[in-house]
Amino acid sequence: MQTIDNFNFKDKKALIRVDYNVPLDSYYQITDTNRIDATLPTIRKILGDGGSVILMSHLGRPKGGPEEKFSLKHLLPYLSEQLKQPVKFADDCIGQSAKDLAAGLKPGEVLLLENLRFYKEEEKGDEGFAQKLASLGDIYVNDAFGTAHRAHASTAIIANYFPQAKCFGYVMAEEVIHLDKVLKKATHPFTAILGGAKISGKIEVISHLMDKVDNLIIGGGMMFTFIKAIGGEVGNSLVEDELLEISRNIVEGAKTMGVNLYLPVDAIIADAFSNDANIKICNAYDIPDTWMGLDIGPNTLQKFEHVIEQSSTILWNGPMGVFEMNNFEEGTKKIAEAIAKATENGAFSLVGGGDSVAAINKYELADKISYVSTGGGAMLEYIEGKELPGVKAING
Ligand code: AMP
Repeated sequence: MQTIDNFNFKDKKALIRVDYNVPLDSYYQITDTNRIDATLPTIRKILGDGGSVILMSHLGRPKGGPEEKFSLKHLLPYLSEQLKQPVKFADDCIGQSAKDLAAGLKPGEVLLLENLRFYKEEEKGDEGFAQKLASLGDIYVNDAFGTAHRAHASTAIIANYFPQAKCFGYVMAEEVIHLDKVLKKATHPFTAILGGAKISGKIEVISHLMDKVDNLIIGGGMMFTFIKAIGGEVGNSLVEDELLEISRNIVEGAKTMGVNLYLPVDAIIADAFSNDANIKICNAYDIPDTWMGLDIGPNTLQKFEHVIEQSSTILWNGPMGVFEMNNFEEGTKKIAEAIAKATENGAFSLVGGGDSVAAINKYELADKISYVSTGGGAMLEYIEGKELPGVKAING
């Protein structure tokens, strides 16, 4: 694997694709700096070698032209503060101003380019656009795992212009190493915990995990499609009727493959999708018509915790309930704590996906998890066994 450690950046301009798609509040203040913080070691290594850095990223979903709320200039104060030096800014990612600023960059200096997605060519993977970006730097570094599953101009196509000078930054390298550790070299028992709203989008993930895991724990909204598929009454709970048969096949498949599939036995149910709704604990297979399950119940929790605590490798994606509402957060919180405890006792744990990472941060457990992935969609596609375009572009 080619990483920045295989290069000496002295007097070189490193063109780094980062994932600075961070949330901003109405005052353009960054409300979660994780994605920026993650890239600082990569930037520091290059500056330490005596190189200079050109950062390129997307932010939000602009409609194909500049929009103030999606300008990367809002990140400059934080980035400058973290790097303890002023960061330059090109208000266009290609064009004369970007060229001039890049050309004038001295060793030790950092330049941030304006939002790549102000050009529709970025997401189209346009060759000409990739070439213009490529002309700005000497070595291409991909450190944007969050967009590695997209074959965009700056994440994949651009690598063609650096056949001998392309590599992963530390964020990408760490993601690939840790995901491979779980998917290819897991110590057993290996437990995967899947939750979140829906099964759709996760079928491939489940199928691919089936021949790897010993235990598969299912919670969240998706549990009700499984429960209905095997004859349970789920009331008004979230169900994907078109996936009932697939869910039934998964349950049967688990039996033939010797995978222990753990579905909830009880649930916290509510008479409305609201934190103020009436709630009670109920058998997960016998939910009254007008009620819906919004979290796993206490007996389920006990069982799940026990399985997690016995595991050597743990992979978690998706909350166990509607953890954004206090009355339905217990399942997610306790599962996060059980994973932290297992990790303390020597298990290797990997948590990924926007909501599970948000939960880990909400309960201040990030430093008790072996590895927290920065990419949701990219991580799921990697687990599905797909070769991510951003990874292939460097390895190929
Ligand atoms: P996903 O993006 O598929 O990982 O889903 C995450 C979302 O699933 C979170 O916003 C949770 O509130 C939601 N969720 C979890 N459990 C349930 C449930 N039982 N019913 C409805 N939504 C749920």
